[in-house]
Amino acid sequence: MLPELPDVIKQGQFVFDAAKQIDTDAWEDDSDFLRRPDVRHFLRVLMTAYQELKESAAHTDVWCEFKDAAGNLCGGAVDIAVDAHGAYYRCQLDPTHRRAK
Ligand SMILES: [Zn+2]
Repeated sequence: MLPELPDVIKQGQFVFDAAKQIDTDAWEDDSDFLRRPDVRHFLRVLMTAYQELKESAAHTDVWCEFKDAAGNLCGGAVDIAVDAHGAYYRCQLDPTHRRAK
């Protein structure tokens, strides 16, 4: 599952701004480069962005609406899956619970 687009845009802006502050063309992974304060700041921003986007992708506000014969709502989290008919929501608890996207 992919992160939410607004989260991607926001984190992308943070990473871009931090990268712009590194005033060198010498992007190396040697220890001198990695010790620079602007590079360390960039790496922190990048790692934070990774965590934020991972978190964004792990959460969804879409839930399975399958009801059993007694009317109990499943309520499982859903993934977005794709088949020949297009994308649909697929329940993580029971993949036979499907709903059109
Ligand atoms: Zn379900």
